[in-house]
Amino acid sequence: MTNQPTSFPKATIEGYPRVGPQRELKKALEAFWAGKIDQETFESAAHSLRVDTYARLKDLGLNEDYAIPADVAYYDQVLETSLTVGAVGGDAAEVSLEEEFALARGNSERAPLEMTKWFDTNYHYIVPEIADGQKFVARPQRIVKLVEEARAQGHAVRPYLVGPVTVLALSKQAEGSNGQPLERLDELVESYIHVLAALADAGVAWVQLAEPATVADLAVADDTQIAAHLEAAYTKILAAENRPQVYLTTPYGSARAGLDALAKVAPEALHVDLSVGTQALDSDYVNRVKNTVDTAKTQLVAGLVDGRNVWAGNLRALRETFEQFDGASVSTSVSLQHVPHTVEAEPNLPVDVAAWFSFANEKIGEVVALAAGPLDAAEAYARADRAVRTRAESTRTHNQQVADRTAALPKGQVQREPAFAERQEAQKALGLPALPTTTIGSFPQTSDIRKARADHRAGNLTDEQYVEELRKEVASVIELQERLGLDVLVHGEPERNDMVQYFAELLDGFVVTENGWVQSYGSRCTRPPIVVGDVSRPKAMTVEWAKYAQSLSQKHVKGMLTGPVTILAWSFVRDDVHQSVSADQIGVALADEVKDLEEAGIEIIQIDEPALRELLPLREEDRPSYLDWAVRSFRLVSLDAAPTTQIHTHLCYSEFGQIIDAVAGLDADVTSIEAARSRMELLQDIDEKFHSEIGPGIYDIHSPRIPSVAEMAELIRAALKHVPLERLWVNPDCGLKTRGYEETEQSLRNMVLARDEVAANLKVSVNA
Ligand code: GLN
Ligand code: ZN
Repeated sequence: MTNQPTSFPKATIEGYPRVGPQRELKKALEAFWAGKIDQETFESAAHSLRVDTYARLKDLGLNEDYAIPADVAYYDQVLETSLTVGAVGGDAAEVSLEEEFALARGNSERAPLEMTKWFDTNYHYIVPEIADGQKFVARPQRIVKLVEEARAQGHAVRPYLVGPVTVLALSKQAEGSNGQPLERLDELVESYIHVLAALADAGVAWVQLAEPATVADLAVADDTQIAAHLEAAYTKILAAENRPQVYLTTPYGSARAGLDALAKVAPEALHVDLSVGTQALDSDYVNRVKNTVDTAKTQLVAGLVDGRNVWAGNLRALRETFEQFDGASVSTSVSLQHVPHTVEAEPNLPVDVAAWFSFANEKIGEVVALAAGPLDAAEAYARADRAVRTRAESTRTHNQQVADRTAALPKGQVQREPAFAERQEAQKALGLPALPTTTIGSFPQTSDIRKARADHRAGNLTDEQYVEELRKEVASVIELQERLGLDVLVHGEPERNDMVQYFAELLDGFVVTENGWVQSYGSRCTRPPIVVGDVSRPKAMTVEWAKYAQSLSQKHVKGMLTGPVTILAWSFVRDDVHQSVSADQIGVALADEVKDLEEAGIEIIQIDEPALRELLPLREEDRPSYLDWAVRSFRLVSLDAAPTTQIHTHLCYSEFGQIIDAVAGLDADVTSIEAARSRMELLQDIDEKFHSEIGPGIYDIHSPRIPSVAEMAELIRAALKHVPLERLWVNPDCGLKTRGYEETEQSLRNMVLARDEVAANLKVSVNA
């Protein structure tokens, strides 16, 4: 190493939210994309955000050199790393904004790169596509500038890159290429070595390389293969003479074979995820780390503070774990990008609850307190003790009635009676035609509705006026569907700002934040609700809307619910009970809603579970038990539905091959599922086990393009090769919320015509 080795800081974090406390980056990005600000203004906004962040992190206690990670990215960290090491993009010395945003968002010449979930979080990264001919040209200019910009403000920050093994493990083969991305590891490592040399020349003493690929069971390579790749890559990287010291991180779970490999190659510092959640899944991890990592060669960094939840940590317990590692440093388990900035931005939270939370800034306080110890940080420990105690004792956390009710539920898997075949027979009474047409629930959210919602929130519209606006919208959505000749109608969901937040606001046991934004992807942020305690339903949540819509039509209107798994997947969950406990509670709360809908005369009810795939554990061995409780919670919702009530479910956002048995296990009567983008690929996975009726989406709602009658008829015919006529439904891929009315109307009209054409060819009647 060229530079004088400096020791690793005692306290650090894996990463920090990038969007800014006031969503500054989001606003700058969107203004730039819309052409409202020029490049210079954009870059200066991003620059201010970065330097403000560094200053804040220093104030919060990350005041040693290299304690602050420069994990900044305009759009996504995988994309920026990939550009820096030349895995994607061109080869001009400096990465341009235009180039970066074209890859992320597409332009008139090219479609955007795909986006997918980053491990088991709600963050989505850009999937690099590796072409056979792609030369990996190192382009360190931007990352070097980051270091210099920080230095000019007096900060020695730690540049951040996703490591080469993880970049390739998460990449896909470009179309028309033959090579698997991971086969190119040697070449890519050369490029990292160049980037590291440039950082060393710029005087950087520590660089962070994140290798979370080692904590997951991935389809492209098993654990042992990943470990072998890590060993090969880091043997080379660490052998390079001109480089900063390497801080290698393994967030999002426990490393197995990878831990041995990394201990063996011995980077100067190694981070392990020792959060309570990770230890719960791998109880031996602390011991393995202790016995495997040679701390004479490698500075161990204990990722004790949980970066994935919003709860104040039990500092005393964490400190006890920490003391098992002599001379270790403290960090967070994962980047804090997954939590909001600060609890201080939530003045309206109930005070007792606010004290239980710890967002990014507060978690930094925990890291610092853990490193300092209970003598030097006595106040922080006392505060943590209080939070742990009051939370455990609170009636907000424990509701005896809820506990009694779920305790009385049957154990193990539950089963709706009678079985599907008999229900299908009973549901003939619904009088639906062959190849019934429907939509997934939401209709375009017009600017009028958004304005009404904002006016209502601001107090400029009374509750009555607001409801009146929404009813008008429902009436027009019903009228439109009648006009288009759809068979099963929806009310359009105008009252829902978000399919999870809507229910979280109406259920007891949740709190919602005002400024708790976290980045979902690019400039998109969500504000996940927080499950603080036992969940129950004080009163009906959707019945009035369904009833009103149904009163306007002779056709069936579907009731519309969000399922327990999706509610949990898009919320911050409890850490004091297993997720299955909350899932059961939400399951029975929604079962009451089903009953109320039935009583209101609603005979078709959809329970959306688009996120079923999202919570799938990273390790295969943990998946069956997850799927078991997830499926159970869904089944609880429909358990007591009448045989004549047709239960629908809807799934989207991912490949379903891995969980197709669980989807079948939901035992819904009708399953609608995203399929158009993959041209019905999923139908290959449909087999005898999948008995329900099924509606594979026949048009992609993510694009404003209006699909033709011919192409949708083609997809219906393709589906009929796998699904018999009596079981096939015709619908779009997902809700229409993000679309405009004009395209929606034309697309749905074409969809109904496509169905009519296929039916006419088959000589089946579509009149009910
Ligand atoms: N019913 C919801 C809608 O139509 C489903 C959304 C989803 O699957 N993401 O908007
Ligand atoms: Zn969907």
